Amino acid sequence: MRTIKLIVIHCSDTESGKDYSVEDITSWHKQRGFRTIGYHFLIHPDGEIDGAKQGCRSIPEIGAHVRGYNRASIGICYIGGLLYSEPADTRTPAQIDALRCLIKSLESIYPEIEIVGHRDLSVDLNGDGVIQKQEWMKECPSFDVKTEL
Ligand SMILES: [Zn+2]
Repeated sequence: MRTIKLIVIHCSDTESGKDYSVEDITSWHKQRGFRTIGYHFLIHPDGEIDGAKQGCRSIPEIGAHVRGYNRASIGICYIGGLLYSEPADTRTPAQIDALRCLIKSLESIYPEIEIVGHRDLSVDLNGDGVIQKQEWMKECPSFDVKTEL
């Protein structure tokens, strides 16, 4: 069993109001050269959570969702993150609930686990120990995980 230290939250970088399946994201990730979908969980706008049973990666399996941190992390992606092509927190109330619920159950299995957003793992360019907005490689997951979760 690999050591799990981190949950990394992502958005699918897709327009608010549209849903995409595990199959859709699997095919996008295959186009990028991944073997299959890179995430362990997918959270749909209606609050449904897809996991390994629905075709996402199983937790013992290393994901493909964040450069440099895949080995010790679990990747959770909510569908959305864009509003009129601009990064935005498009999570529906059902997605917010589902995400909190999923994190709570993972925390009961891994009490020491840390939760971050994808953008919080950007490179600290000026080396001050804080990842600032201008250092984000991308906006994913389009909300501040530290204050919102
Ligand atoms: Zn991401």
